[in-house]
Amino acid sequence: MCGIVGYIGKKNASNILIEGLEKLEYRGYDSVGVAIINDSKINLKKTKGRVKILKNLLEKDPIDGNIGIGHTRWATHGQPSDTNSHPHTDCKEEFTVVHNGIIENYNELKHDLIEKGYTFKSNTDTEVIPNLISYHYKGDLLKAVIDATNDLKGSYAIGVLSNKEPDKLVTVRKDSPLVIGKANDGFYIASDIPAILSNTRDIYMLNDREYALLENNSIKFFDKDLNEIKKETQKIEWDLSAAEKNGYDDFMLKEIYEQPKAFKDTISPRLLEDGTIKLDDITLSKDYLNSLSKIYIIACGTAMHAGLIGKKVIEQFTNISVEVDMASEFRYRNPIIDKNALVI
Ligand code: GLU
Repeated sequence: MCGIVGYIGKKNASNILIEGLEKLEYRGYDSVGVAIINDSKINLKKTKGRVKILKNLLEKDPIDGNIGIGHTRWATHGQPSDTNSHPHTDCKEEFTVVHNGIIENYNELKHDLIEKGYTFKSNTDTEVIPNLISYHYKGDLLKAVIDATNDLKGSYAIGVLSNKEPDKLVTVRKDSPLVIGKANDGFYIASDIPAILSNTRDIYMLNDREYALLENNSIKFFDKDLNEIKKETQKIEWDLSAAEKNGYDDFMLKEIYEQPKAFKDTISPRLLEDGTIKLDDITLSKDYLNSLSKIYIIACGTAMHAGLIGKKVIEQFTNISVEVDMASEFRYRNPIIDKNALVI
């Protein structure tokens, strides 16, 4: 699971992007990169390996500028390498993109684009996106991003910069996570709230295929038909320490040591003194629960293992059969789900 970050505002983008990428390291990745606009030009720096390699590169050869995007890659198409690292640009180097997700129809799009004269440097699925934006660009970056994403099948959270409109950052998501933070100094984008929480607690959540056009002092949201939509920020109340290593060498060790507390925090508010269990945050009616034919728990990693425990408990109490599935595989195996199934 990779991460994307972005910044547009009054501060130096390079430091903010590196800090954000460091906060996303827990998600796992194999390469890292940034693109920063300086003097209306896009400057790229990317490498296979860890964020600290990129940090050293930027210390030796800094890039000024206060608009930028950054990425930690978890390779899905093409091996981890400097060339396959994000950001990717179109072949004329006018548009640059960071992408989290998978473009399922990239092969046909790539062939179409090659027939139209576009060339490719990497083995990634992502590289079709900047080239498609270039193909659709007719003087309006937001419109070109909408038109390009109309052609995509699959999942994406993307951040887009262009030297044609060097004071803008366009972003959109579909089936991959993305949030936008609003601060006094500017706007932040990230795959995950912890990456920007030290800069702001005012967060916009993007729904699938909602586009944000970020400029230095303004943010506008649009649907896929270019209609402007209104959005309000949400205040994030939780603590950053939940998402940091807090002195542990790695997140795995932290998770192991935090298990007793996590268990207590989860269970104790629901256990009443008279020995009964309170589950008032579950609002499913008894009739609905009685109508269920089957329950699916779909999750990855630790959550999937929790699901296996859940299967045992739910089957024992409800007598309804529970299937636990790996989330990343679920839709690809064409599951047979009837209308009375509950999917968690
Ligand atoms: N599919 C893209 C790639 O392989 C993005 C992977 C990711 O989400 O990091 O480059």
